[in-house]
Amino acid sequence: MMRLPWFRYRAPRSIAEAARILADEGPAAMLVAGGTDLLPNMKRRQQVPQTLVSLRNVAGMRGTNGGDALSLGGGLTLNQVVGIDAVRERYRGLWQAATQVATVHLRNMGTLGGNLCLDTRCNYYDQNYEWRQAIDFCLKKDGQTCWVATASKRCVAVSSTDCAPALIALGARVRLVSTAGERDVPVADLYRNDGIDYLTRRRDEILTEVVLPEASGWRSCYWKLRRRGAFDFPVLGVAAAARLAGDGTVEEARVALGAVASYPFLTKGGDLLAGKRLTDDVIAEAARSVASRAKPMDNTDFDVYWRKHVVPEFVGYALREIRGDDMTAVRMRIARQAL
Ligand SMILES: Cc1cc2nc3c(=O)[nH]c(=O)nc-3n(C[C@H](O)[C@H](O)[C@H](O)COP(=O)(O)OP(=O)(O)OC[C@H]3O[C@@H](n4cnc5c(N)ncnc54)[C@H](O)[C@@H]3O)c2cc1C
Ligand code: SF4
Repeated sequence: MMRLPWFRYRAPRSIAEAARILADEGPAAMLVAGGTDLLPNMKRRQQVPQTLVSLRNVAGMRGTNGGDALSLGGGLTLNQVVGIDAVRERYRGLWQAATQVATVHLRNMGTLGGNLCLDTRCNYYDQNYEWRQAIDFCLKKDGQTCWVATASKRCVAVSSTDCAPALIALGARVRLVSTAGERDVPVADLYRNDGIDYLTRRRDEILTEVVLPEASGWRSCYWKLRRRGAFDFPVLGVAAAARLAGDGTVEEARVALGAVASYPFLTKGGDLLAGKRLTDDVIAEAARSVASRAKPMDNTDFDVYWRKHVVPEFVGYALREIRGDDMTAVRMRIARQAL
């Protein structure tokens, strides 16, 4: 049985108190929300904070604020997010992403903030201490070599958050709070393409809120590739959002990819679609362009070439759903398929 290492546990009651503790404790402290990512990582000694600062009892982290835009507390559990009518009706891409994270039990604990700050993943890293010790560890923790790209000085572990690409496509922003003040950043700017230093969030900052822009006239969706339809981390996530004119012409669009780099990112797919109607040819051209940006590495599930090969298929599914095609049968096939 893997045991947790010793740590100190702090349970602040307010965002200001949590920020103060983080500032005082320095890099030895980490936030814990649902703990569904961090605690298993601690058991495997991938992350070994000396102090955990719990967000569970922090007031003001689980609110929602409606209106034309929508603000979601970073401490909302994913099941709470899924249960919000405005998310299901107006921000479909986020709803589809959140419903596909892990299992219903994990979504009862796992939070939106934790999902956005999820550690990157890799076959050589997501192993217990003894396994990693046997290969002399790796660049991301305790070692000198990246076993995926041995000449690389950079870790290429995979970003595996489902909600981030959906929120990037929706044009959402996050609020980060520390003792130095607060700042709002687009979700797309929260990440960098670096498997170790994958967040632009400073260690003393708390992600308190996700702010979604007004969605009137917008459609959105999220398509996920994973091995087990019941639950699994994504090995590809495609998120699309678009505002269509009455005749079906795309006025504005965004297409984001997840799980094909160390960060989720916005592609140029949306720009390519602007001013055009979503014909099969336009969709195929955009899908090819978006897929060219996907650079999966051989460090997660499935054959890497096949993962690259199916990117345009998934972008096509997403854009057809945005067009208004009934994609239920395709979704069911993917969910049921034991790939
Ligand atoms: C079996 C299994 C399957 C999973 N499948 C998926 C999946 O399919 N898709 C997916 O996206 N995830 C998956 N996960 C990962 C995880 O369950 C979710 O991402 C969850 O939403 C993480 O939230 P949490 O609150 O538990 O995060 P925690 O574990 O509490 O924290 C994760 C990280 O975020 C930081 N953090 C947490 N909250 C904040 C905040 N408010 N501000 C700043 N930093 C913060 C922590 O310091 C830590 O670094 C899976 C996990 C397991 C164990
Ligand atoms: S990509 Fe390389 S450095 Fe990063 S976790 Fe995997 S093996 Fe380690």
